[in-house]
Amino acid sequence: MATQTKKLTTTAAKLAHENLRIPGPVPLPDDILEAAGTQMINHRGPEYADMLARMTANLKTVFMTAADAYFITSSGTGAMETAIVNTLSPGDRVLSLTIGFFGDRFGDIAHAYGADVTSMPFPLGQAVDTAALARKLRELPGVKAVILTHNESSTGVANPLKAVAEAVHENSDALVLVDAVSSAAAMPIAVDAWGIDVVSTASQKAWIAPPGISMVTFSARAWKAYQASKMPKYYFDIAQYRDYLKNGQPPFTPCLSAMYALEISLQRIVNEGIENVFERHHAMADRCRNGAEKLGLKLFPDRRIASDTVTAIRVPDGIDGKALVARVRKDHGVVIGGGQGQMTGKIVRIGHMGWVEPAHVDGALQAIEKSIAAMRAGR
Ligand SMILES: *Cc1c(COP(=O)(O)O)cnc(C)c1O
Repeated sequence: MATQTKKLTTTAAKLAHENLRIPGPVPLPDDILEAAGTQMINHRGPEYADMLARMTANLKTVFMTAADAYFITSSGTGAMETAIVNTLSPGDRVLSLTIGFFGDRFGDIAHAYGADVTSMPFPLGQAVDTAALARKLRELPGVKAVILTHNESSTGVANPLKAVAEAVHENSDALVLVDAVSSAAAMPIAVDAWGIDVVSTASQKAWIAPPGISMVTFSARAWKAYQASKMPKYYFDIAQYRDYLKNGQPPFTPCLSAMYALEISLQRIVNEGIENVFERHHAMADRCRNGAEKLGLKLFPDRRIASDTVTAIRVPDGIDGKALVARVRKDHGVVIGGGQGQMTGKIVRIGHMGWVEPAHVDGALQAIEKSIAAMRAGR
């Protein structure tokens, strides 16, 4: 073949030296990037079947479950939608525990499909109050599902998932559906032991892979609910994923590039040992929290409920939060998150999930400190 190949320069290649510190997508090490760039295969062939079998086993290991687990080609929101449409019917009563932007989104999805959603919001920067939840469940009969965010990326707060699930099981027969998009593979989620019915997550967060693949677990109770579920579904109909998996196949063409990368990172997580992975994230989060406080910055949430994957820091008085994010990027090549929704301009967020070196976190903190000093000095 005489075709000429011209070297392409992508936008990302030009930005390759940025320190990407947002709560997903996360930066990827070279070998995982290379895996994502390898040749396509037949997704209905034996190699894919082998890969899918290994990946499914590893996924169950991370979630400490003997129940079902599936890969779906979508972003994390697709996995949240999967949890809703496969377990509920229009008119079903849903209790939506929300501590921020992503909690609101989960409730919006349930509402969009016709569920009778009662929203139970908690103040931004705080976690779910399990005693209040228990009281609510006792006074609100017939709740079919309690939905919540494990780790609220918009405020840097982690909910006490085990205690929430306990409160639900002690006070109702409701299903527990969890958005763990930004916590899975970084914080423990014992699906079977805690009685979690559906967990939703996505490849571009702590899993160290490109965006494109979401993952869900599905309990025996969730399958029972599936039988009665009347919400419309097709692409996200979980029975299709189950039936095709029996033959080592996906129902639809998967994002192969992201699957290749995820195959490697999943194996790495299992080889490292999930307890070690969780420890490592906790230690990195502590480093970020301690480092911020040492610089005189104030953490947004109380340390006891602070997330191990994203640290939210209050923007000091007199500083424009949006300008701070722009400044950190322009002067230091560090990309941090700003506040979302009501938190716009009030906080900045540093992501530290997946592949993170101490220098990544330290560099982000120094960039924030220097930028604040420059802004104060009117430079
Ligand atoms: C990133 C994120 C999502 C949404 O993910 P998409 O992949 O953008 O659909 C949902 N919930 C939480 C907590 C997240 O951090």
